[in-house]
Amino acid sequence: MHELLEKVNLQPDVATQYPHELSGGMKQRAAIAMAIACEPDLLIADEPTTALDVIVQAEVLNMLKRLQEELNFGMLVISHNLAAIMKLSDRIGVMYGGQIVETAPSENIYDTPKHPYTARLLQSLIDPRRPPDKVKTIEGTPPNLRNPPTGCRFAERCTLATEECRAEEPPLESAGDNHETACFHHEEVSQL
Ligand code: SF4
Repeated sequence: MHELLEKVNLQPDVATQYPHELSGGMKQRAAIAMAIACEPDLLIADEPTTALDVIVQAEVLNMLKRLQEELNFGMLVISHNLAAIMKLSDRIGVMYGGQIVETAPSENIYDTPKHPYTARLLQSLIDPRRPPDKVKTIEGTPPNLRNPPTGCRFAERCTLATEECRAEEPPLESAGDNHETACFHHEEVSQL
């Protein structure tokens, strides 16, 4: 037990404390200690940084990366935090409307997205190096998954949408360079 707590940078006396006595970051570390206790081959981290401040987020992400290297487990990270995903992942899958719409090595997703939703997500990131008028939002709302639309689920929000997009669902297929996308017009995404 103490060895596990040390691995996640917690003092041994944390083992005798109640959860309400711990900070959010400490609780997250304790949860990670429990997760690695059974020496998993795969660790699933579902929103590992939610509700943590920026500094603690960075500490938790660095710790997960270190533990993965030390203990040699695979890791599946589910997050809305793009910065966290970029930092932790070798490969990224982007979901929209309950479906994977793009998968690729993380640097490809960042440098050359091939789905309009991914491109718009990246353009909506606040980056102090980018002028404020270059930060864009995605108009509209996600589809109702109880009654999903025919064709591409992103069509109502996509500036590249055509009649084909509204009539047929684009399959997830190779766009070269170990990159897959579900978009009929992925060659045009770089112009967005
Ligand atoms: S298939 Fe059409 S609507 Fe869907 S993302 Fe691609 S261009 Fe946009």
